[in-house]
Amino acid sequence: DVADIPGVPEWLPEHLQGDGIESLYPPQAEAVDAGVTQGENLVASVPTASGKTLVATLAMLASVERGGKALYIVPLRALASEKREEFEQFEQYGLEVGVSTGNYESEGGWLATKDIVVATSEKVDSLVRNDAPWLDELTCVVSDEVHLVDDPNRGPTLEVTLAKLRQLNPDLQTVALSATIGNAEALAEWLDAALVDSDWRPIELKKGVHYGQALHLEDGSQRELPVRNSEKPTAAIVRDTLEDEGSTLVFVNSRRNAEAAAGRLSSTVEPHLTPEERDQLSEVADEIRDVSDTDTSDDLADAVEGGAAFHHAGLSSGHRSLVEDAFRDRLIKVVSATPTLAAGVNTPSRRVVVRDWRRYDGTAGGMQPLSVLEVHQMMGRAGRPGRDPYGEALLLASSHDELDELFERYVWAEPEEIESKLAAEPALRTHILATVASGFANSREGLLEFLEQTLHASQNADRQQLERVMDDMIEYLEVNEFLEREDDGGLAATSLGHTVSRLYLDPMSAAEIIDGLRAWKRGDGRARADDGASGADRPAADGEEPPGFTTAGELADDADEEAAERPDPTAMGLYHLVARTPDMYELYLRSGDEEEYQMLAFEREAEFLGSMPSEFDPAFEDWLSALKTARLLEDWASEVDENEITDRYGVGPGDVRGKVETAQWLLGAAESLAGELGLGLAPAVREARVRAEHGVREELTELAGVRSVGRKRARRLYQAGIEDREDLREADKSVVLGALRGRERTAETVLENAGHRDPSMDGVDPDDSARPDDG
Ligand code: ADP
Repeated sequence: DVADIPGVPEWLPEHLQGDGIESLYPPQAEAVDAGVTQGENLVASVPTASGKTLVATLAMLASVERGGKALYIVPLRALASEKREEFEQFEQYGLEVGVSTGNYESEGGWLATKDIVVATSEKVDSLVRNDAPWLDELTCVVSDEVHLVDDPNRGPTLEVTLAKLRQLNPDLQTVALSATIGNAEALAEWLDAALVDSDWRPIELKKGVHYGQALHLEDGSQRELPVRNSEKPTAAIVRDTLEDEGSTLVFVNSRRNAEAAAGRLSSTVEPHLTPEERDQLSEVADEIRDVSDTDTSDDLADAVEGGAAFHHAGLSSGHRSLVEDAFRDRLIKVVSATPTLAAGVNTPSRRVVVRDWRRYDGTAGGMQPLSVLEVHQMMGRAGRPGRDPYGEALLLASSHDELDELFERYVWAEPEEIESKLAAEPALRTHILATVASGFANSREGLLEFLEQTLHASQNADRQQLERVMDDMIEYLEVNEFLEREDDGGLAATSLGHTVSRLYLDPMSAAEIIDGLRAWKRGDGRARADDGASGADRPAADGEEPPGFTTAGELADDADEEAAERPDPTAMGLYHLVARTPDMYELYLRSGDEEEYQMLAFEREAEFLGSMPSEFDPAFEDWLSALKTARLLEDWASEVDENEITDRYGVGPGDVRGKVETAQWLLGAAESLAGELGLGLAPAVREARVRAEHGVREELTELAGVRSVGRKRARRLYQAGIEDREDLREADKSVVLGALRGRERTAETVLENAGHRDPSMDGVDPDDSARPDDG
């Protein structure tokens, strides 16, 4: 019974009852018995949607009740806001909840006053690197979806971060929530925690495979589910579910497939909609179109009008929540999604169809089967407790052999064991520097001791591989001047190393940026650009800004100086520099792209920082994909329409935002590095960054920086003769109103944000002032 939970605040039982939670689910009760509300460490490995969040909530509330402070680590930013909303309901009892997802380098001081903080593992890692003082006060840390420590890219950060938090406060309570995995006891052993390992689910889940005209379920039963001529099995299943008034979640392997499936399925759903539902759906569709004016937005809105939607990481958060809400409200009947939706966003449905069980994997060179863990997590989304009699999760087979294979591979299979991915170069390169820089170790031995606290050490008796990679990476960091060995054999971060760690850069990205900036300063690669003037005979700048440094503008007036000093790098050059670092995820070259970007590379050769690899070098292709990213950024910073960009590069609006954000962060880091190295290039980098931030040409950077102006409005204001913030502050109100096409509210907000004496539009006739734009 919820009234008998020890250690939780007085108000909690009633609050839970208000949410319809009268008694604990069996795994929750087990967790309470194991002392989760009394400060004990716990690993809970239970199926999706079986109430893990409540286990964590109980632990956090009890910890705060004892005067402590709790941190909830989520794997995805999208989940951070969902969790915050969930915990904000406790603010009525005087608790304060904060979420920290913003820039890596922002120090997060304001979080010191919060009782519960929600953050991604990368953000927590960054807070540790930047010595956020409140981290010492943490009494409880929750790690959601902790099985992701197995992920080669992001797992090591979670692993190292948990180890650091536990080292900062040896009494810290750790609560780790995991999907069902093959070796939950390994996690418990690592975290020195009690284990709740359960298969219990609040609603029955029937797994099965659709083949031919029938569903084959795991209990051996079969049920007819006819597929009409010219119909796809997924459509038949959706139709069948609709006849039972249920909804379907379809998992596919790519964004493109998600979009295509939603388009097709909306024509399956549409005939089943009531007139009322059609009206409501068309309202949702309008809201979707309002979020942004892009093809993706249009496609989504069109699908939604027919009762279907797609969901993937390329969607903006506004689109995502509209889709999730309408699906939860049972207005949208089918959502086709990439597996991001399975990673914890709470959108259960009657049926789940795992349509694609293979996914393209570039590093493995082709289609690879999904893990049992992933498929089971998707399947676990089936069935809404209290609403559906049971959930049904189906795979699709196109042959009898495949039917057998899918049963073996997924339906009857146990999920995989998870395994630390820490002993890999990129992970250790980054984490060794950060560990030394933030004082968790100051020698090779100290590093080894620290690494003893990781899952890797608890899983591997043999340390050879870890030590070998560690030694290689210490050397790499030394060569690049991020670490130095001291006389007594100790290790210390250099000032540059500290900067790199705080900036949250992969040291390899930092090295690439530093090399590029230095090469530009030295004049490398000028040979072809400047008619034979070789950079080799010029002395290296050696980190010192040469005396008498002049700006590009001054150089243009002084022909003699030009031979000694190079103009500032262009935005394109700088975008390419950051696009080729390992911190910028790649934009793949499509067929035909190679030739196009090769030409562009030669045309604009003079703009790149550092030398271009030869066409025969295997690195050339990566270099060209970076060029594709760089041109996307250049387009964005040249005010090309967002829709045109998504078309031109075959990406979603969410991707454009993602690229821009990453570029902004990397350019900010490059600016700091350029400043620290005294290269005199910081102003050029800043300009490229600000242009990327606002998506505007140089002349608009100031205007676009005024809150609620943005790239399009800035251009219209500029055309109306308002060129900077000062002009805007002094502007004639009717001119502003005209430029903003007669939208009074917008104009008032803009004027207010610019600090105009009298932002009110009273007495200005909008019709009159709007006229200049009509023509
Ligand atoms: P998980 O985190 O394991 O995926 P959630 O914590 O999201 O699952 O729980 C799924 C749903 O179950 C939520 O809507 C939650 O409110 C509900 N729930 C959790 N515990 C209980 C309980 N003891 N009784 C009734 N409903 C519960």
